[in-house]
Amino acid sequence: MQNHGAFQVFFSYSPMALFYPVFGSLKIIFGPFEQCLNCKKNFEKNMKMMKRLSEELDSLKEDIELRISAECHAGTMQTEEVKNWLEDVQRIKSETEVIEQKAGDKKFLSGAFLGKKVEVKVVELKAFLKKGKTFLGLVKYFRYIIIGGGVAAGYAAREFDRQGLKPGELAIISKEAVAPYERPALSKGYLNPKGAARLPEFHVCVGSGGERLLPGWYKEKGIQLFLSTEIVKVNLGSRTLISAAGETFKYQTLIIATGSTVIRLTDFKIEGADAKNIFYLRELEDADELAESMKAKKNGKAVIVGGGYIGLEVGAAMRINNFDVSMIYPEPWCMPRLFTPAIAAFYESYYANKGIKIIKGTVAVGFNANPNGEVTGVKLNNGRVLEADIVVVGVGARSLTTLFKGQVEEEKGGIKTDKFFKTSMPGVYAVGDVAAFPIKLYNEVRRVEHVDHARKSAEQAVKAIKASETGKEIEEYDYLPYFYSRSFNLSWQFYGDNVGDTVLFGDNNPSSPKPKFGSFWIKDGKVVGAFLEGGTPEENKAMAKIARLQPRVENVDQLKKEGLAFASKI
Ligand SMILES: Cc1cc2nc3c(=O)[nH]c(=O)nc-3n(C[C@H](O)[C@H](O)[C@H](O)COP(=O)(O)OP(=O)(O)OC[C@H]3O[C@@H](n4cnc5c(N)ncnc54)[C@H](O)[C@@H]3O)c2cc1C
Repeated sequence: MQNHGAFQVFFSYSPMALFYPVFGSLKIIFGPFEQCLNCKKNFEKNMKMMKRLSEELDSLKEDIELRISAECHAGTMQTEEVKNWLEDVQRIKSETEVIEQKAGDKKFLSGAFLGKKVEVKVVELKAFLKKGKTFLGLVKYFRYIIIGGGVAAGYAAREFDRQGLKPGELAIISKEAVAPYERPALSKGYLNPKGAARLPEFHVCVGSGGERLLPGWYKEKGIQLFLSTEIVKVNLGSRTLISAAGETFKYQTLIIATGSTVIRLTDFKIEGADAKNIFYLRELEDADELAESMKAKKNGKAVIVGGGYIGLEVGAAMRINNFDVSMIYPEPWCMPRLFTPAIAAFYESYYANKGIKIIKGTVAVGFNANPNGEVTGVKLNNGRVLEADIVVVGVGARSLTTLFKGQVEEEKGGIKTDKFFKTSMPGVYAVGDVAAFPIKLYNEVRRVEHVDHARKSAEQAVKAIKASETGKEIEEYDYLPYFYSRSFNLSWQFYGDNVGDTVLFGDNNPSSPKPKFGSFWIKDGKVVGAFLEGGTPEENKAMAKIARLQPRVENVDQLKKEGLAFASKI
């Protein structure tokens, strides 16, 4: 108050008071000019702001359009209000472009006037952004997102934690209702008649002898698990993911770990293939349904369609559960992509000794069902009909790449990556079953649908992501293919490449109390692949070493005679 008074006194009694009316008039005359000058002063700053907001609006528009195109799954986005907003955005975009053009035109001199226009446009753009964001709801932003909550996702999470992760930085989005688990258990321990494996027993990373990551572990680390959440739309350009429920996720770095899906007989329109009690095995839900049905159809008849590792493992599990089991497959021997006829002959005889009927060189052409829609029989292409209470189909899988079609380079049915699992799209990595990556040892791009690679590729990708943030370098992925399977009391492991000539060694008599035999694959005079049934951990290690080092073979007969001893010497 006092100061104010002093001010008044100064103006009332000082000579300055004489000029006061003059200042006032000048202000009236020059006020608008002064305002325009101020606009011009802020011109540069506002132009930058206008450009940034315009880009932000572009990306928001894309997200909203993406969400609209996902509407078949999600909420109720296609309202009149949203449509009007999209039209208005188009208009404001054109107007902004005109301003930008004029600003770039050196002959355009009335900068002050343009400055005012930019200022108005900035206000307008901000209002549009605010409104647009309300259509999307809350966008969930994470530094890292993993799509898929399977084996690779779990191992990636552990590696992020090892490398240093702040709470809230990582999210895993999974279609499944449970935290990442060791998928191979589903066709093994999960189907045991007694003491069957159940979650939380086999959450990752127990399969490789590591710590079991329970849901509480993710919580404790500040890793968000979005379970029962399917991503239905992806825009890698704007780094946006949309879920079936309509949530929007944004990321800085994405890891694609969507794995594979089973090939279904309904895909080939096989008659009756949609009958009840015809099962596939990929996710926990599938295993639960099969286990339920096994209880309901106790001691019944089971037909296994397919002679791959799912067929062999589930066939054995059904037999152990006292089902009368038949297996059918079109090939002349089981596991034809890996086994030689000699290896396959052992397993086929072993299975026959256990009472499993194997019908080779045949396919299912249709299914019979009872009035309840439950399968009762499998029609074969040779006219035979096999009675069935339960059918389990294991005819292969295909990698889940559909969401990313046209957005990343693909190869060999998967997403092409480099040795660090980086895809062709910056900030996007692909691991596990979906990745088509270079195998250094064979100088070839391949896809590997096995758990060991899912684990290791996930770890490699995370190491690469973290290293790229700090400008460090890591070693290239140098993978030695490794597959395994277990059924009955059998257990085999394979390392390397199954190409070239083969040498069988050891005791492959299916009636032996403890059969132990193996095979080497020899290409260009070197051992490139090694298979062993019934090996100890040390023996399996020796087989891995031989496949990695690829020693020269001077005498094939000697190799056959020495067998495991040859590997142990290396
Ligand atoms: C029954 C069975 C037994 C097996 N046994 C063996 C074995 O003995 N030895 C061996 O080496 N390998 C085995 N495998 C193969 C091994 O499990 C796979 O190679 C491995 O799981 C691949 O890991 P991944 O993380 O790439 O994919 P997955 O483990 O399949 O995980 C993919 C995840 O992504 C989720 N997902 C997919 N699409 C979306 C989406 N749009 N939105 C959200 N989530 C999505 C899926 O629901 C799933 O949770 C077996 C596989 C099966 C099914």
